[in-house]
Amino acid sequence: MGIPGSGLAKGLAVTLRTMTRKSHTAQYPDAQPELPPRTRGVIGLFEENCTVCMLCARECPDWCIYIDSHKETVPPAAPGGRERSRNVLDRFAIDFALCMYCGICIEVCPFDALFWSPEFEYAEEDIRDLTHERDKLREWMWTVPAPPALDPRAEEPKEIAAARKAADKLAAAEAAQAEAAQAETERAETRRAEAAQAETPRPEAESGPDGNGAAS
Ligand code: SF4
Ligand code: SF4
Repeated sequence: MGIPGSGLAKGLAVTLRTMTRKSHTAQYPDAQPELPPRTRGVIGLFEENCTVCMLCARECPDWCIYIDSHKETVPPAAPGGRERSRNVLDRFAIDFALCMYCGICIEVCPFDALFWSPEFEYAEEDIRDLTHERDKLREWMWTVPAPPALDPRAEEPKEIAAARKAADKLAAAEAAQAEAAQAETERAETRRAEAAQAETPRPEAESGPDGNGAAS
């Protein structure tokens, strides 16, 4: 049999011990939580990158991505070329009441059109409002954190290398064009100067004491 009052003493000891520890409770919503940068809060859509390939909708295990589109004919890029057709996005929606935040859609998108945003404050009273249409998905894009800086020792991404090569080529072509224009201007000036010199009347030959030319 225990000593009478020992349970009370133990309880008070636990209370005293925990009173002195730092609290882990955050006073949300007065204090916003500090979330890690890769938090899966909501999905943002950068629709300019979306080619309506439907890969995300096909791979989504919950079938909660809804995409509608139509085809449009685009005039040929060069005269005599063939007309091309492209997909135009009509609807892109995600039902966050069904979404299980697996991130598969973001992983499989080949065109970087979907991103995680850490925003999580979008609770609704009506479950139907949890289907976010493209305008709302675009709004989430502005809350997507910037990607982390590249490792300075990492190999340059091939897209940047290709863009740099193209920019260098363009700059070289422009420099060559400017050089050719400068050379042409100089040639034209030389020709003008030569023509002006040819048109200038020659000074009369020095006259002798008899008024005739000294020469001859
Ligand atoms: S995160 Fe997963 S469940 Fe949610 S929309 Fe993307 S693929 Fe579907
Ligand atoms: S996978 Fe990407 S590009 Fe394809 S439909 Fe989905 S968001 Fe658009």
